[in-house]
Amino acid sequence: MTDRQSFLPEAGRPAADLLAELRALTAADLPTRGGRTTAYTYDAGRPEVRAAAEGAYLAMLEVNGLDPTAFPSIVALERRVVGAVAARLGGDGATPGVFTSGGTESIMLAVKAARDSRPEVAEPEIVVPATAHAAFFKAGKYLKVKVVAVPVDPETFRAVPAAMAAACTERTVLLVASAPSYAHGVVDPVAAIAAAAAERGLPCHVDACVGGWLLPWLAEAGADVPPFDLSVPGVTSLSCDLHKFGYAPKGASVLLFRDQPMRLAAYFACAQWPGYPVVNSTVQSSKGAGPLAGAWATLQALGADGYRALGRAALDATRRLVAGVGAIDGLRVLGAPDATLVAIGTSGDDPLDLWELADESRARGFFLQPQLSVDGLPASLHVTLTGVSGEGVDALLAAVRESVAAVRARGPVAPPTDVLALLDGLDLYLLDDAAFASLLPATGLALAPDPDSGAGSGTRMAGVNRLLDALPPHLRDQLATRFLSALYSPYLGG
Ligand SMILES: *Cc1c(COP(=O)(O)O)cnc(C)c1O
Repeated sequence: MTDRQSFLPEAGRPAADLLAELRALTAADLPTRGGRTTAYTYDAGRPEVRAAAEGAYLAMLEVNGLDPTAFPSIVALERRVVGAVAARLGGDGATPGVFTSGGTESIMLAVKAARDSRPEVAEPEIVVPATAHAAFFKAGKYLKVKVVAVPVDPETFRAVPAAMAAACTERTVLLVASAPSYAHGVVDPVAAIAAAAAERGLPCHVDACVGGWLLPWLAEAGADVPPFDLSVPGVTSLSCDLHKFGYAPKGASVLLFRDQPMRLAAYFACAQWPGYPVVNSTVQSSKGAGPLAGAWATLQALGADGYRALGRAALDATRRLVAGVGAIDGLRVLGAPDATLVAIGTSGDDPLDLWELADESRARGFFLQPQLSVDGLPASLHVTLTGVSGEGVDALLAAVRESVAAVRARGPVAPPTDVLALLDGLDLYLLDDAAFASLLPATGLALAPDPDSGAGSGTRMAGVNRLLDALPPHLRDQLATRFLSALYSPYLGG
C-alpha cells in the first residue's frame, strides 16, 4: 500500500464494503470481549449494555463538544456523568469536575491545575511514588514540570508517605497517590500522603483512574478498601476512568476537584486571535460527544446493581487467580493486591524468563501484559480481572502452568549482549525508519506474526521485551520511540 492511488478511491465505496474491510483488519487484533485479553479491554459481558452505549454514541456522533453553548446537550450529559462519579467518590452534585478523553488527559489537567495555581513557582515539581502511572511523566514533559519519583516499599509496593514528605521542596506544587497503582494493584496510603500535603499547604491528587469505579463496589462486596476519595481530608483532586471499570466505550474519564478555583486553573481560554473565542475544559477543542454519551448510557444501563455484580465477580476471579498463581512453582504475586489487578513475578533462585512466558501464554490465547523491571522493582506480567474474567480463570491458570513448563523445557535464553553492544554505539535517532527496520531481522527483534496462528497469537515479543528490560531507561524510551516510528512506516507497518 505504498502507491498514492491506493489510499483514496476515485469513486466512493459502499458502507458494506468498508465494514467488511474493517472486519478483516480487526481479525488480527487481540479479542476485545470475553476477558482473555487481560489488559486494555473491559467487557461488561452484557449485550444490552453494549447496545445502549452504541446507540447513545451514535446518537451524538455529529455533535461537537467544542461549544457547550451551541450544544447544551453536552453540558447536561457531562453534569450527569460527573455528578454520578462525584456522588460515589466523596463529593456531591456541586463537586466541580471535567469529563475528559481518558486517564492521561485527566492527569495532565490535574498537573496543569496544580502548576497554574502556583504561578510564583518558577520551576515547579510534583512528588509522585515511583509506581505512579507514566501519565505523570508525560504531564511533566508536556507541561515542563519536574517529576520527583520517590521509591516505594519494596515488599508492599506502596508509597512511603514520610519519604514523599521529605522529597517536598519550596518548588513542589502537587503530591500524588494511586488508588490503586496500575502495575501492582495496591492502594497507596492516601490519608497519610494527603495529610502530608495539607500540612505543607499543597494539593494532593489521587490517581483513581483504574480504581475509582471499582474500589467502591469491591468495598460493598466486603473487600478491605482503605479510604481514598474526596472524603479524605487533604485530597484536592481525583481522576476516575469510565473506559476502564466503568465499562464505557474508550474516551471516557472524569477529573474531580475539591474546589472551584482549581478547576478554573485546569481550563484554557484564548480570545486573542481573530477567530471564535476559545474556552476549553480539556486538551482537545473540537471533540466527539460520542464517548460522553456512551459513558452516560453505560452508567445508566448497568446501574449500581450492575456494577456491584461485576465487582463481586471480578473480586472472586482475582482471589482464585492469586491462589492459583501462588501454587505454581517459580511464580508469585507481587505484593497483596487491593483491587482486581495482579502482577505476576518470579520466585526462586533460577527465575523464569517472563518474556518467554508472556509469548507462550499468548500462543495459548491469553495476553498477559509485560511490565519491565525498574529501579529495584522486579519485572512482572500484568493481569486485570474484570466482571467477565471468572469463567476464564481456570483456563488462564492452565495456560500459565503449561507455559511455565514450555519455558522451562526450552532452557535459559541468552541475554541480548550482542544487540546491547550494537545499540551502545548507535544514535538511534540518526537512523531513518527504513534503516532501523532493516536492522531488526539481524537482531532477532523482527515482529514476525505467524500468519497461520491468527488473532495475534503468533506475535513473539520476548526478544523486544528482553532487550528493553536490559536497557537503561533513557535508551528504552529511545528504542521504543524509534520502533513506533518504524511501525507506522511502510518498512515495518506494511
Ligand atoms: C490507565 C491508567 C492511567 C492512564 O489512563 P489512560 O486512560 O490509558 O490514558 C493512569 N493511571 C492509572 C492508575 C491507570 O490505570
